[in-house]
Amino acid sequence: MIEHTSRQVPKEQIAHQLDCMEQVSRHNALLPEKPLFFCQTFGCQQNEADTERIAGMLAEMGYVRTEDAQEANVIVVNTCAVREHAEKRVFGIMGQYTHIKDTRSDVIICMCGCMVQQEHITEKIKKSYPRVDIVFGTHMLWHFPELLLQRLNGSKRIFAISGDPKGEIAEGLPVQRGAGCHAWLSIMYGCNNFCTYCIVPYVRGRERSRKPEDIEAELRCLVAEGYKDITLLGQNVNSYGKDLGISMDFSDLLARLDAVEGEYRLRFMTSHPKDASEKLFATMAKGKHISHQLHLPFQSGSDAILKRMNRGYTKESYLALIAKAKEYMPDLVLSSDIIVGFPGETEEDFQGTLDVVRQGQYDVLYTFLYSKRSGTPAASMPDSATQEEKQDRFNRLLKTQEGINQQRQDAYQDRELSVLIDGLSNSKDGVYTHCGRTDGGLLVLVRGEDLHIGDFVDVVIEKTSLRALYGSVLGKGYHG
Ligand code: SAM
Ligand code: SF4
Repeated sequence: MIEHTSRQVPKEQIAHQLDCMEQVSRHNALLPEKPLFFCQTFGCQQNEADTERIAGMLAEMGYVRTEDAQEANVIVVNTCAVREHAEKRVFGIMGQYTHIKDTRSDVIICMCGCMVQQEHITEKIKKSYPRVDIVFGTHMLWHFPELLLQRLNGSKRIFAISGDPKGEIAEGLPVQRGAGCHAWLSIMYGCNNFCTYCIVPYVRGRERSRKPEDIEAELRCLVAEGYKDITLLGQNVNSYGKDLGISMDFSDLLARLDAVEGEYRLRFMTSHPKDASEKLFATMAKGKHISHQLHLPFQSGSDAILKRMNRGYTKESYLALIAKAKEYMPDLVLSSDIIVGFPGETEEDFQGTLDVVRQGQYDVLYTFLYSKRSGTPAASMPDSATQEEKQDRFNRLLKTQEGINQQRQDAYQDRELSVLIDGLSNSKDGVYTHCGRTDGGLLVLVRGEDLHIGDFVDVVIEKTSLRALYGSVLGKGYHG
């Protein structure tokens, strides 16, 4: 039987954090100048959304954001554990930040996120990074005000890592989003899938969904504040609601959110192929605000590898799924993740992956060389291919996709597309002054008169490159 217990943090505990924020804020108000904070984020969109929460709490406590770590009073590094490369980069950067204490010993240095949720990492920080003040895991993020207050009050360095994999949901804490018209909106946390290569379920805990009314309320606020490109976040959004014990799945949630009035686009990530359904595609096709964009990672085109990855689908069922999605949305922009060099991958397995790439005709591919993660089942699977062979496969994959990419980009030549202007471009020619995204999320450099961030414009595509489309404005207006 499934246990439906609310994972919501009790209101009194949130109130305690708000009280700690108030105390830090009073402490900071006595300083001659407003203190500064610096945040650096590694990894995925979920981490970016978490950093926005940390920044929100720091702003509430009287800190002002700086982009220069050298002048900051509080430094927060939000870490990623998905691949070894990111972990190495984090330790490199921590060396630099801890040196700041040579001249300013009162700087508070914090590490948080997925990487520090692993015991061998916290041991390394304890032994080799004595100047790091506060280390808090993914489940302790909402305790940050309390931890900072303790440290300001002179406590010893703090290691706050909860081992409870069930995790919790903290509502009602402040958030500071980046400038512009894009916003992340988390709908759920954690993952239950245990793909054998992946560390995420171990460091982010079990799946837990926010209540639909909380998500809708946040969406309404975002729309009212002028955000126009809103991405719903979860490791596998298609299993939304399973833990809530209510009769609402992800498609139902999407339809409910789509009914919120306003000029905005709604995207989501990530979808797991084993749970994506025809109902989802029908909801997307019917929606007023829902972008025709789907990120559907397939990881490998070999059934044997998919089985060893514990992915729960086959090459054939995956291809049938994307064909169905394109049937509902012929203008679908499709992207995927692929891992090359999973333990035991043969050349024949890899050919299966290339085959899916050719048949899938993706607009964007995120390609990764397999990275061994200690504690995952794949870490102890036998491997045969050499690093050179894996790198060679990786290069061939990139080459195959490059050709497809160019063709797909070229097919947009002379087409009219709706674009949301979201920034200034760095185009050297000075002609295409702004940049924006199509409904499907493709990058367009735009030229036209009187353009502003947040404008919906209709453009005609004048030229294309691998990286971007280039368009001139025909008119303004939101079409839904
Ligand atoms: N939950 C999402 C999903 O299932 O697609 C993605 C989460 S994961 C942070 C993003 C991507 O990282 C995965 O889709 C996978 O391709 C890649 N990844 C995860 N673990 C990896 C590993 N050990 N080595 C290489 N790539 C990995
Ligand atoms: Fe990792 Fe698989 Fe969960 Fe995605 S679905 S976060 S790849 S375990």
